[in-house]
Parts: sequence; C-alpha cells; structure tokens
Amino acid sequence: MNNEALKRYARLIVKTGLNLQKNQTLVIASPIECADFTRLTVQTAYDEGAREVVVRWTDELTSKITYKSAPDEIFDEFPDWQKQFYEFYDAHNAAYLSISASDPELFKDVDPGRLSRANKAARTALKVHSERLMGNKIRWCIASVPTKAWAKKVFPDAPEQEAVDMLWDAILKAVRADSSDPVAEWARHTDSLKAHMEKLNKHQFDALHIKNSLGTDLVIKLPKGHIWLGGSELSADGVEFIANMPTEEIFTAPRRDGVDGTVVASMPLNYNGNLIEDFSITFEKGRIVDFSAKKGYEVLKQLIETDEGAHYLGELALVPYDSPISNMNILFYNTLFDENASCHLAIGKAYPICLEGSDGMTPEELEAAGINNSLVHVDFMFGTADLEITGVKDSGEQVPVFRKGNFVI
Ligand code: ZN
Ligand code: ZN
Repeated sequence: MNNEALKRYARLIVKTGLNLQKNQTLVIASPIECADFTRLTVQTAYDEGAREVVVRWTDELTSKITYKSAPDEIFDEFPDWQKQFYEFYDAHNAAYLSISASDPELFKDVDPGRLSRANKAARTALKVHSERLMGNKIRWCIASVPTKAWAKKVFPDAPEQEAVDMLWDAILKAVRADSSDPVAEWARHTDSLKAHMEKLNKHQFDALHIKNSLGTDLVIKLPKGHIWLGGSELSADGVEFIANMPTEEIFTAPRRDGVDGTVVASMPLNYNGNLIEDFSITFEKGRIVDFSAKKGYEVLKQLIETDEGAHYLGELALVPYDSPISNMNILFYNTLFDENASCHLAIGKAYPICLEGSDGMTPEELEAAGINNSLVHVDFMFGTADLEITGVKDSGEQVPVFRKGNFVI
C-alpha cells in the first residue's frame, strides 16, 4: 500500500475523525494484525500534539482459544482493572479510536452463549464509559484497516495479498482518503448530509412508513422533539468530530413503543464473529414479538435476549441506495461499511443526543420520552433499490421521503 495514502488516512482519522486537541491523550484499541497502521497513527497523533498515545492491543485468535478452552465461569466476569483503565482515561478527557477489523466468521463454532455472556459482562462493567461515548461527552472514532482473513471473506477469489490490497483500496475510497485533500472533501461531505437532516428536522414527522418488495412493511413512530443527526457531531466541550469513518447516514431515534410491522434484512449481519443471514424481525408496539433467520438464528436470539432493551429499537438511519459505498457494490461483512451503504435500524440503545433537551435526563425520563436503553446497540441493514419511505405528519398529511431507494425530499 502506498505510504503517502496511508499517512493521509492516519491524519484524516486523527484530525477530522477524532479532532485530537493539543496535549490530549489518545487511547487506541487495535488488533495486533493492524500494528503497522496503528504505529503510523501513533506517530501522527504525536506529530499533531498528543500528550500520550496508549494502545490496547487485541487479538481475536487468542480470544477464540479462550472462548473454546477456558473454564465456563470466566465468561460472566470482567476484570476490575480494565474498568479502571477506562475510568482513568475518561477522567483525563482522552479521545478514543477503535480499529474495527475482524474475521467475520471466526467465532462461528464458539458457543454463542459464552459469546453473549462475555459481551454482557463487558458491557455491564463499561456502561458508564459507553454512555459517555454515546452521549458525545468525549470524542471517539471507529475506522478500519484490512486483515487477511477479513479481506479473503470480502474478495474470496483473489489471492491473499491481492485481496488485502483490494480491501485497502475500497476502504480508502470509502473514507475519501484517495483524494489529494481528504480533509476538505470531508468538510464538503458533512455539509451535504446536513441538507437532508435539516429538512427532516423541520418536518418533525409523527411516523415514517417503510416498505419494499423484500417484505419490509414497517411503521416507525418518532419521539416528539426528535433530532436527525449525521456527519459531524459536537462533543461536550463544543469540538466537532466524526464518530464513524466512513459515514453516509443521517439517523434519529425511533419511539421506543412506536414500531409496528416487519423488517426484512437486506444484508448479512456480522455480530460477535458470526454471520446472521436472511433474517426478519416483527414488532408490536415497539417490542420484538417474532424473528427468523436462515443462518445464525441462535446468535440473533442471544442478541435479542441480552436484556429487555434489546427487544426494542434504538436507531433509524437513512442512506440513499445511490451513494458512494453502496455504488461500490461490495459486501464488506463489517457493519461500519455495510451500514453506510444501506438504510439501517439498530437493536438496543438509542442515542440520547437524538432528543431535544435530553442532556441531564435520567434513564427513566429518557425512556418515558421514547428513547430506548440497553447494554447493546447493533445495526442491521434493510435498504434496497425499491425502498419507499413516507413521512406521516400529526395532521395525517403524507410526504414522500424515499422513492426507489433514494431521497425525494
Ligand atoms: Zn447508524
Ligand atoms: Zn448504529
């Protein structure tokens, strides 16, 4: 991979994604296989004035050995020192970068019960930290770097090194790092996302009716005072940042008890090292009352049964069918990319920032206002070329929002 392109990408993540400030600490979670790029990012962060860069190396192959071989009781435990790690760096106002690069099916022969318990133990212990992230109290960014196993899943016919190069090309294109001035490209891009956001915020639809020929027929009510967000956001100290790179979506929170009908997924979902495929979910008054999956049923079941909040939705995001990542026609098997190629929903926790006046509200007050709470937040995709979305106002007036998969508003 061209070193200049990688440097541009690292700088884009540090400057535009995290918007790392002089003297700020950066915490990076990175797979060991991505060490070359992570070291480059560490150097970039110091060049931009970081106080300290702390890397937490992860290795999913070690995790797999643990899941398969460790005694059963450890999967309900989460070590206190790891919790203290995040408390320490939260207190020091660190920024967080997460490098997302996993083998989509690595854990397919691991007991899904163990995966789900370990996930729940970690999420319970790190609840305060993840609420700080989701409430934009601190700046964070998720970005990706290819690994061999992931690249081979995306490009199965190419030899390994070629597959890795192809995935690099696709990632750099998706994050606009292939242009000569990606920072300026991103400023233009986030402005264009704002145009649709502003229109939807002005409409304040009571509900959206979503339909396509795959079988999706869903009415989603929106909370009073909901806010559509997208592109860049502001952290608590008023500094702009971009939490996901790439990002092509605008999103809001569905009303917790206001979802009725069925949604059919349009892409496989990579969750916890497993693929869930050909699945659909049915809702009544917001709650999941039925679901099916041709593949990964047990993993989907464990996800929904994480807690009561995982029976409800926490995000509705709109992405035009005719948009840059969608037009690449690549199934990435990685939610960071696939969600930005397709309209999607999330099972679980909603972003409180999607509700006016939510700052300082208790979890109970948020729930009463329609904002769902859960230990999990997992996106899944439903966008198609024939997707229709119609906005319904309080007065009953109907306004076309999407026709043939794209915005018409
Ligand atoms: Zn989203
Ligand atoms: Zn999401």
